[in-house]
Amino acid sequence: MLVFILNAGSSSLKYQLMNPESQEVLASGLCERIGIDGRLIHEANDLKIKKDLAMPTHKEAIAIVLESLTSGEGKVIDSIEEIDSIGHRVVHGGEYFSESVIIDDDVISKLESLVPLAPLHNPAHIIGINICKELMPTKPNVAVFDTAFHQTMEPAAFMYALPYDDYTNHGVRKYGFHGTSHYYVSDQASKMLNKENSKVIVCHLGNGSSICAVQDGKSVDTSMGLSPLEGLIMGTRSGDLDPAVLAYLMEKKEMSAEQLVNYLNKSSGLLGISGISSDLREIIEASTNGDEKAMLAIDMKCNRIKKYICSYAGILGGVDAICFTAGIGENADLIREKVCSGLEFMGVSLDKTKNKVRNSENREINTEDSKTKIFIIPTNEELVIARDTYKLTKV
Ligand code: ADP
Repeated sequence: MLVFILNAGSSSLKYQLMNPESQEVLASGLCERIGIDGRLIHEANDLKIKKDLAMPTHKEAIAIVLESLTSGEGKVIDSIEEIDSIGHRVVHGGEYFSESVIIDDDVISKLESLVPLAPLHNPAHIIGINICKELMPTKPNVAVFDTAFHQTMEPAAFMYALPYDDYTNHGVRKYGFHGTSHYYVSDQASKMLNKENSKVIVCHLGNGSSICAVQDGKSVDTSMGLSPLEGLIMGTRSGDLDPAVLAYLMEKKEMSAEQLVNYLNKSSGLLGISGISSDLREIIEASTNGDEKAMLAIDMKCNRIKKYICSYAGILGGVDAICFTAGIGENADLIREKVCSGLEFMGVSLDKTKNKVRNSENREINTEDSKTKIFIIPTNEELVIARDTYKLTKV
């Protein structure tokens, strides 16, 4: 069984070819600058192949990927007939989808109806799905949604305190994102806890960052909202703000609504505060050289994470494990240490030596006597996509 996993963005796409039973990844890669010029990075057979190739549209990009899987030094299969099914990462499933589904015309029309809620993402996913249907017409396609895991949130968690009609007429509510990662990590955590009923907080800290409260395997609250802008301070996104800031900035800086949304998504967060970079590694380096804004950016990021952890511990009525995942969560011992320090009152005690050990395994980094476990769990969204696709399409 081989699943082709596709994550189509507006000018890029990521892919993997995986056997979901053995978890073997045969090939993975990235097409960038689609519609501009085109660049392929294909990893297979222990090679990393980089090529500049014309990709006027997603169609050429996907055709190039399929060609790379079946010919040349990056070849891993003889023909695309060996691919059994295709799993698509889809950012927004709205309230329609609480689990992964086989894609048919009805699913596509629902994804189209959700474009206003995810104008940057869903159109690219629909293009990716249609091209796969065209290039591999006999293969089933499955959609795996970033929002699906959070559909278990109760109204008290997902409603905004706006007039109720904004929810019924316009779908304004918290949807939450990174659901595939929160599901995978919380599931691993409950296995590590070896406990049937568990209270887990997952901190997914990458360029995009979000945090999720998970009770008995179900998402009960999460920091991202209607869009991935709410919540934590991210690489270039502001996260939570007083909404009054928006109108104030629009007036003071003479910004349109679109400019403001871009400003909050692309020029804010760690980049905006530090003025250095959205990449935490560069900010940590600057802070060790005494850059005050870099130090401030790190302190602000950690404070925000801590605020969410404490509020979610309150919502859950306690916490068995705090989990760190994604680029920052898995690698940045400084951030984990700053986040955990001061949480001793709620039974969180970090083992500073274990915290500094680097490897790619699931691991426990709390002291022996810590009431609350602290886990590092490398996320694997592709594995969840491959497994869901396999489950839904195996004959
Ligand atoms: P994305 O949301 O793009 O998938 P990632 O999960 O890859 O993001 O995380 C990217 C972030 O992880 C960047 O801010 C990067 O600086 C940070 N990161 C990666 N490795 C380290 C490290 N060793 N120390 C600190 N930060 C790291």
